[in-house]
Amino acid sequence: MGKGSKDKRDLYYRKAKELGYRARSAFKLLQLNEEFHFLDDLERVVDLCAAPGSWSQVLSRIMFEESKNPENNDNKKIIAVDLQPMSPIDNVTTLQADITHPRTLARILELFGNEKADFVCSDGAPDVTGLHDLDEYVQQQLIMSALQLTTCILKPQGTFVAKIFRGRDIDMLYSQLGYLFDRVVCAKPRSSRGTSLEAFIVCLGYNPPANWEPELDMNKSVEEFFQGCYKSVSKLTIEDKLIEWHDEERSVAPFMSCGGLNSIDSDATYHIEPSNDPQQTRQSLDPIQSPTNPPYKKALELKRSGKLNRGV
Ligand code: SAM
Repeated sequence: MGKGSKDKRDLYYRKAKELGYRARSAFKLLQLNEEFHFLDDLERVVDLCAAPGSWSQVLSRIMFEESKNPENNDNKKIIAVDLQPMSPIDNVTTLQADITHPRTLARILELFGNEKADFVCSDGAPDVTGLHDLDEYVQQQLIMSALQLTTCILKPQGTFVAKIFRGRDIDMLYSQLGYLFDRVVCAKPRSSRGTSLEAFIVCLGYNPPANWEPELDMNKSVEEFFQGCYKSVSKLTIEDKLIEWHDEERSVAPFMSCGGLNSIDSDATYHIEPSNDPQQTRQSLDPIQSPTNPPYKKALELKRSGKLNRGV
């Protein structure tokens, strides 16, 4: 699909470029916030799995450029973490790190001067192998890593928002979140394609059990980490099989669609009218931010220097 046809087929893709966002995902966070208003009055924020950075751009715009209390801007901090390098974003500190490694937690806390965060979000997605069960498992592990890190850096009553894929075992995750937050909602923004299993958990009011102290340790399993958080939590971890389950332990998070019925439908194709007025003619726009270190970079460099040898 060419650049121009993608502009017509996916208006969020086009709109992102028009508004200066690096990815169309920006609208997912904006539409979630329209519904839940979790981005009001934030000071310390962590954006996990942040590259190329459109969520961080939204956070920076709302917390700094559109701030209702700019006199407080000096106390605000946004940290964006990703395995990939990220081009700089105003008011955002970028960390190239793995969210599954405990050292990343230490680096975030150091940057926050050991203060806790008001808001943590994660739009993480691992590389897809095409093996459905394996992909689902790796995605669940990434969510669990984001949740574990969040429990160590989120302050009481803080908010956690994360991308999930509504697979077979997702109600176990809802149950687990129910022990940690006052309210858990599964939300689907209009900008997230209806045909995809993608959705977002919006977890409001961080409120872990009083006697539970989360501690990140590479040698601890997910079960061990949540041990003591709730007496039956070990039964609720993603790796466990359903045999361990009793029906009354299952929980279903309320499902909410957000973004308004008059917002653009991400599954629809829109026709961009041609116009005789050159000012009105819709041109295909260039990307806001070129990839920093794409896997094909080396091949391009070799090709340009005439050193790319193809085997026959
Ligand atoms: N929210 C981003 C935005 O708006 O630009 C898009 C995030 S993209 C869908 C998913 C990201 O997850 C990728 O950049 C990938 O590198 C990152 N990721 C996957 N596993 C990770 C890990 N273990 N640690 C840090 N980042 C990870």
